[in-house]
Amino acid sequence: MSINKEQALKQYFGYDSFRPQQAEIIDTVMAGNDCLVLMPTGGGKSVCFQIPAIIREGLTVVISPLIALMKDQVEALRVNGVNAAFLNSSLSSAEQDQVMWQAKVGELKLLYIAPERLFSGNTFEFLREWNVSLFAIDESHCISSWGHDFRPEYRQLSALKKYFPEVPVIALTATADRVTRRDILKQIGIEEAQTFVASFDRPNLSLNVLPGRGRIQQIQTFLKKHNGQAGIIYCLSRKGTETVTASLQKAGFEAEFYHAGLPSEKRSKVQDQFLRDDIQIIVATVAFGMGIDKSNVRWVIHYNLPSNVESFYQEIGRAGRDGSPSDTVLFYSYMDIITRQDMIANSDQSEAQKELLNAKLNRMKQYAEADICRRRILLSYFNEAVDHDCGNCDVCRNPRSRFDATVIAQKALSGIARTKEKVAMGMLIDILRGSRNKNVLQYGYDKLPTFGVGHDLRGEEWAEYISQLLNSGVMDIAYDEAHSFKLNPASNQVLYGKRKVELVRFIPLSERKAKEE
Ligand code: ADP
Ligand code: ZN
Repeated sequence: MSINKEQALKQYFGYDSFRPQQAEIIDTVMAGNDCLVLMPTGGGKSVCFQIPAIIREGLTVVISPLIALMKDQVEALRVNGVNAAFLNSSLSSAEQDQVMWQAKVGELKLLYIAPERLFSGNTFEFLREWNVSLFAIDESHCISSWGHDFRPEYRQLSALKKYFPEVPVIALTATADRVTRRDILKQIGIEEAQTFVASFDRPNLSLNVLPGRGRIQQIQTFLKKHNGQAGIIYCLSRKGTETVTASLQKAGFEAEFYHAGLPSEKRSKVQDQFLRDDIQIIVATVAFGMGIDKSNVRWVIHYNLPSNVESFYQEIGRAGRDGSPSDTVLFYSYMDIITRQDMIANSDQSEAQKELLNAKLNRMKQYAEADICRRRILLSYFNEAVDHDCGNCDVCRNPRSRFDATVIAQKALSGIARTKEKVAMGMLIDILRGSRNKNVLQYGYDKLPTFGVGHDLRGEEWAEYISQLLNSGVMDIAYDEAHSFKLNPASNQVLYGKRKVELVRFIPLSERKAKEE
């Protein structure tokens, strides 16, 4: 065929120029070499295999776990005049036979298939007759148990290089740290492959972390500022999406919830409404957004802490794909860490896997608690060197200052000591602030010498400082005793004046510098 890659980009996709790395990747694949492509969501991974597929002889087999998206991707290709098809369980067996026939007679340039389908029946045998000239493995981090979305059926893909050593493989992913990357290459059997890492920086996304108290209130304020703009609120649980939606609706916002427990008609309806701008606010679990190609999502809020940085990054990456300024907010409280830790502890994962999940959670926590530029933390997670602060995160806009908080720590710790280590966050704050509420009075806590010693600080300040005390290890928490606080040897050093404590000064929301427009 006489068409070159620039012409293909123009003719089939309507674009004039390649984005950084795309041309090099396409050249590598065209030359018949294996490669691994790391590009953020929305970065433009698809053309990296679609253009070689169009130009080269033979069939490109695209392996993807996301059955729900295959149809859209294939339709988009067909609209642009590319012969493409998909094979998955949503097709009748007659339809599947027809696709197999098209592949056999060489009518197809691209065939999308899920790994479980590829290795069921005798599909894999048929591959030999199909003149396959390229394998593209999308979401390739799913092959690694070091990644955050390991899918055992992906492991079978190691058979590709064994049976088709001469067919090049392009593995693609939006999320993989260094260990995962190396493992992807090893599992697929392409250790020598060239790796392309596009920049993960999305400077148009503002990064913000807000204290988790009064989230609904804060969200309402946020939504009023973002009136008429589309966005997504991610919640941990299905139930959470429903309650958050209900309170927003009650406050007059048009919001809809979305989670995997909804009937599929309802799900596609909500999704369509969002894509068509009929609904601006979606409250969803992480089930929402996989492959949703909506360029004008202006904000993403995390109501709860995500389980790892990779997921977090993918989720905020759904905002601002068009490159225009977009805002991201993560709500964070110490309870979120505890909930996540509990989920890991109670899961049926192996001990080694639990350790990995905890380590990943810890990185997420470091991001949330950062007192240096958050973008630096995010990008260094993806091993990208950064030599300057971004100016577009809440830390850059509101530089943190530390102060001697030994007295604050002593007040909190003596509150814990006086209540015989039986109280959790809410009660401790009530005691320190001297609130005479029912629970406090019931236990006679208003008679304690510590009662009211912290009335000079607001509740939200106490919550923030107590979280910091927990994080800095000068007190403990017993998950199995209703999350009551406990003293440890470091607590005693602080209480007896043998150890100083520094904390990061709390900046109330109203005093935080908002984005400079
Ligand atoms: P990914 O798979 O990396 O998440 P896609 O391949 O879906 O991203 O591409 C994201 C968007 O960018 C798509 O709308 C795609 O058409 C567009 N795109 C890809 N390459 C280019 C390019 N060279 N110029 C302009 N837009 C592009
Ligand atoms: Zn910054």
